[in-house]
Amino acid sequence: MGGLACRRVEPTGVGGVCACAMTCAAVATPPFPQNGPGLRPSFDGVDLLLLHRATPPAQLLQHMDKLGRELQSPPSETESDAWVEETPEVAALLAPESLNLWDFDLIKLDQATGGKPLALLAFALIQSFGLIERLKIDVDKLKKYLLAFERLYNPCLYHNPIHAADVMHAFCFLLRKGKLDLELEPEELLIALLAGPAHDLGHPGVNNALLIKQKHPVSVRFPTSVLENHHASLAEQLLERPDMDVLSFLDTKPDGPSRKVALRQLLKDLVLYTDMSLHGKIMDTLKEKEDGAATLDVKEPAERVVALQALLHAADLSNPCKKWEIHIQWTHAIVAEFFSQGDLERHLGVDVTPMLDRTLGCGRTSQKGFFVHFIRPLFITCAKVLPFVQDTCEM
Ligand code: AMP
Ligand code: MG
Ligand code: ZN
Repeated sequence: MGGLACRRVEPTGVGGVCACAMTCAAVATPPFPQNGPGLRPSFDGVDLLLLHRATPPAQLLQHMDKLGRELQSPPSETESDAWVEETPEVAALLAPESLNLWDFDLIKLDQATGGKPLALLAFALIQSFGLIERLKIDVDKLKKYLLAFERLYNPCLYHNPIHAADVMHAFCFLLRKGKLDLELEPEELLIALLAGPAHDLGHPGVNNALLIKQKHPVSVRFPTSVLENHHASLAEQLLERPDMDVLSFLDTKPDGPSRKVALRQLLKDLVLYTDMSLHGKIMDTLKEKEDGAATLDVKEPAERVVALQALLHAADLSNPCKKWEIHIQWTHAIVAEFFSQGDLERHLGVDVTPMLDRTLGCGRTSQKGFFVHFIRPLFITCAKVLPFVQDTCEM
């Protein structure tokens, strides 16, 4: 993997490790024994490769501190952020014939945009549904909102702006293929689209279980769906800022204030259901329909929300459904992030979660389990109860 120069090597060189998720060849001395005793016989090439990609505990602790600060004060000004220049290469990547491909190359876009793929892609996708003209969205506010999203992501190995852009892209693909965009109110569609880039905002690169175990302030504020509540709350706080109020086009309408409240709630409802611990709940709702030989009626507002939640969740988990070259890079990124959390747990002196323990060499088995127990059932059930995405989900 990799081999390309990376622009994201931490200037401070925290542990000397590059934080780039996908393309970086920069490696550092891993904070663990490379050929140490105790490595299981099942330790294979994938696991060995992962030994070279890690976020050091000190950097993860910095992300966790930042998470605490985000709780106390709303996101700061973004005046210094400039809109990313759209070069001919970027314009070609964002052209409809490339944008509408399932295997859209996010990694190429990341490189072409100098490591800022999220704001440009999100803007292009919102534009591609004609929403800017239809809703008369204030373009400056939208750009500021998207730039703030881009900035709030940490340079995690997996939960970074490239993942957010990837999820938004996959979600848009599913919506468009199923023509679900035509069933939604334009403002609803706008919020659904924004849920993609919002869904992991401020992710520290460690999971809810560790935040709860460490009694991190974010887990005190949000005892359940810890990070997902935080992601949604950041997105909502930004939306409340006058300079990023993307919904300001509603201000002149008599029901504007109540529409805004309902749309903010929709954003929260979508982001919250990206919590893996709610996967079973989504599956139960979908299966109930399937058992009754029924499909979700997207003309019904409540069922429409369920459909959007299921599809956003599916988009969030969709990397194993991409072509091998793309999938394998995401897999390396997520397993490297998992193992980095395991290193942090060891550093903190708490029990190392087996799935996150690099000395157990579990990269390959965890992938199989993830595919068999989560991905396949989710996509198969979506294909049954959301017939408009049947072809795509079966594919
Ligand atoms: P999120 O953290 O919002 O991206 O939620 C998706 C979750 O799905 C991740 O935290 C992982 O636990 C899991 N996941 C996604 N892709 C993979 C993968 N390729 N292998 C294993 N787990 C994955
Ligand atoms: Mg998440
Ligand atoms: Zn995600």
